[in-house]
Amino acid sequence: MNSENKRVIAILGSTGSIGTQTLQVVEEHPECFEVYAITANQRVDDLIAQARKFKPEAVVIADETKYTQLKEALADLPIKVYAGYEAICQIVTSAPIDIVVTAMVGFAGLRPTIEAIKAGKAIALANKETMVVAGELITNLANRYRVPILPVDSEHSAIFQCLAGESNNRIEKLILTASGGPFRTYTAEQLEGVTKAQALRHPNWSMGAKITIDSATMMNKGFEVIEAKWLFGIEGKDIEVVVHPQSVIHSMVQFADGSVKAQLGTPDMRLPIMYALSYPSRLDSSFPRLDFGKLQQLTFESPNFDTFPCLRFAYDALAMGGNMPCVVNAANEICVAAFLREKIKFTDMSRIIERAMQSANFKINPTLDDYLATDAEIRKMAEGWI
Ligand code: NAD
Ligand code: MG
Repeated sequence: MNSENKRVIAILGSTGSIGTQTLQVVEEHPECFEVYAITANQRVDDLIAQARKFKPEAVVIADETKYTQLKEALADLPIKVYAGYEAICQIVTSAPIDIVVTAMVGFAGLRPTIEAIKAGKAIALANKETMVVAGELITNLANRYRVPILPVDSEHSAIFQCLAGESNNRIEKLILTASGGPFRTYTAEQLEGVTKAQALRHPNWSMGAKITIDSATMMNKGFEVIEAKWLFGIEGKDIEVVVHPQSVIHSMVQFADGSVKAQLGTPDMRLPIMYALSYPSRLDSSFPRLDFGKLQQLTFESPNFDTFPCLRFAYDALAMGGNMPCVVNAANEICVAAFLREKIKFTDMSRIIERAMQSANFKINPTLDDYLATDAEIRKMAEGWI
């Protein structure tokens, strides 16, 4: 905290969906939060506008070719300007920072998260891929450095909120809700022909392109099962996925006595972001409220593991452990990028991921170097198949 008792935050991926909503939370409570650093990959104009508005100490652009433009645009302000991926890994260690919001997308979030934990920073975790790839390594590191990992993902925030005051009580199971995505009612045959535009139209949430495609394949829910295992220490067999198309119940916890607690809210990521940043307090907000008069009904159904095999792959990878979740993540990142470039069909994604799982060099106790090597190897392999 700074001298005014504000929490000092760094936002990795400030120009994205979670990043911009994090800045809205800061605007909602400027008396509680101060932005120390913001980073982006390529969107230099957005980053410049954010820097001029929020006046952080430092900005970082990963794409080094955009450094001069960024530097010149901020020349009249006392803001430090850096470029390159290594600079993102370094900025998170700056002494004044209390919390790092990891809102970058994909495997790229892993190394900055590790550096932030080693520097003793609390993590507000949006970048679930980090937990999918290296959940064991990250949780061990967080324990060693006594750093909290505060979930931003709405399902995990819901579980985290249900667990408040329950620290000595046995959890029987976690129930993750899933909207089912845009293709919830589709058959396997219908899925063969779906387009990128259809897949990018999520019924309830407005999110970055990668996670929107992951939601359409249900890989996102699979990743969330893996994320839940590491965040809450619950085995995969005790984590159930329930399709709940209205996205009002964000997830649930069933305790030893059979009681089930749920957390409800509008589909608005600013709420879980704010809870992660203000935890254990709750702050006032002007965000929309649920209107039960208009809701009418909440419905539930079981997920279809045959139509959405990516969900099954995630459970399988979690059960196998080692570097297998890292394999699935790497193959998935390549597949989603190829689908977004319209190089492969929607259903090719699960086929390629399955093939990667079968072809991978399995390691049961991977080190960080093993994860980096697995990621590189699987990306190359999957690119070759595309
Ligand atoms: P997005 O694509 O909208 O934004 C990603 C941000 O990360 C951008 O600022 C981009 O510049 C930056 N970035 C991307 N690749 C980078 C790289 N290689 N190096 C440095 N910076 C990079 O994504 P998003 O929807 O905000 O999602 C961010 C993360 O949060 C993902 O891991 C996603 O799974 C997770 N998440 C998102 C939501 C949501 O509602 N959007 C919900 C839950 C979890
Ligand atoms: Mg989620």
